Amino acid sequence: MGSFKVLTVRGIPIRIHVTFPLILILAAYQGGRDFAGGWLNGAALGVVFTLLLFVCVVLHELAHSLVALHFNADVKEIVLLPLGGVARMERMPERPYQELLMALAGPVASALIGIGLALVSVAFIIATSDLGHVIDQVLAGGNGLQWAALIPSLALANLFLAAFNLIPAFPMDGGRVLRALLASFMPHGRATAIAVTIGQGLAWLIGLYGLLRLDVMAMLIAVFVYFGAAQERQMLRVKSALTGIKVRRVYSRNARSVLPDDPLGRAVDMTLEGFQSDFPVCDGQQLVGMLSQGDILVGLKEKGAHVPVSLVMRPDPLTVGPDEDLFTVHQKMDQAGASVVPVVEAGEFLGLLTRRDLEEAYGLVSALPGLWNRGELD
Ligand code: ZN
Repeated sequence: MGSFKVLTVRGIPIRIHVTFPLILILAAYQGGRDFAGGWLNGAALGVVFTLLLFVCVVLHELAHSLVALHFNADVKEIVLLPLGGVARMERMPERPYQELLMALAGPVASALIGIGLALVSVAFIIATSDLGHVIDQVLAGGNGLQWAALIPSLALANLFLAAFNLIPAFPMDGGRVLRALLASFMPHGRATAIAVTIGQGLAWLIGLYGLLRLDVMAMLIAVFVYFGAAQERQMLRVKSALTGIKVRRVYSRNARSVLPDDPLGRAVDMTLEGFQSDFPVCDGQQLVGMLSQGDILVGLKEKGAHVPVSLVMRPDPLTVGPDEDLFTVHQKMDQAGASVVPVVEAGEFLGLLTRRDLEEAYGLVSALPGLWNRGELD
């Protein structure tokens, strides 16, 4: 959402977020202000440098993604945001060495690009024998940057990208490297907890530095690291709470269903009468589709209340089995963006599992760990 696709590599869509042009506007402004050769020339240099840097960021994310694909993870998309790129994975590789290789792939790619560009720069500088001048340019950083320093600066930026991402803090790649290394000799949960604590400790240090130096960028990074680590910890809590609990423990059995031939108006009446707003469509005991609140509203608007439910429902909804693991199901629902899924056994409809059911289970297990560990009959 809120992004558009620019190309597809190995089946992975590469998308640009609508806010991405903001960084180009900022680059044009800063380039125009700081770089040599007047406003227009400086602005153009700033934009070109930023675009090339983001090409390198895409290569960094692609390196992660290709290793992930190799270990049978699903890479949903790569999205470019103003602050960098994100590869969204559907299933992360679980084994420590797989996570390690996947996490290292990005920084290694950035380092190789950096070294490659540095070699090109050196060759170019030797060929034009303008060494001192270009080094002055690069070291001068933003001030007075000229086109001749474009490639050397890009090399430096890639080396920085590699080093920065290896900081051992979630959500940086280095955080995953650290977790994978720890997980090779201790339980995964404990490894995550330690990596998260180190990540948040580092976030405090970076934040403190930012405050003392009044460095807004450092403060932003501190916040980003802190909440990235917190998110990883929350994910771990949900995982340890829900793993091992079966769907049949928590799903709602009293869900009402509609027939394929029922008019859509019947689903509207049922929505108003009770708590339920998403309805399974059943032919006898067989589930034939799902009618969500959104489907009902769109159907009403486009086709009216008299149209049969079968013309509005989703005929092929995501379903879960009664013996599936709640954490696995939680992830499936997240990926599908589903707030409710029908529970089905051999095509037969049993009931609905809602996000609320998951939250209740999480709350209960958090309040009383081991609630379902003993006496689990099923
Ligand atoms: Zn990375």
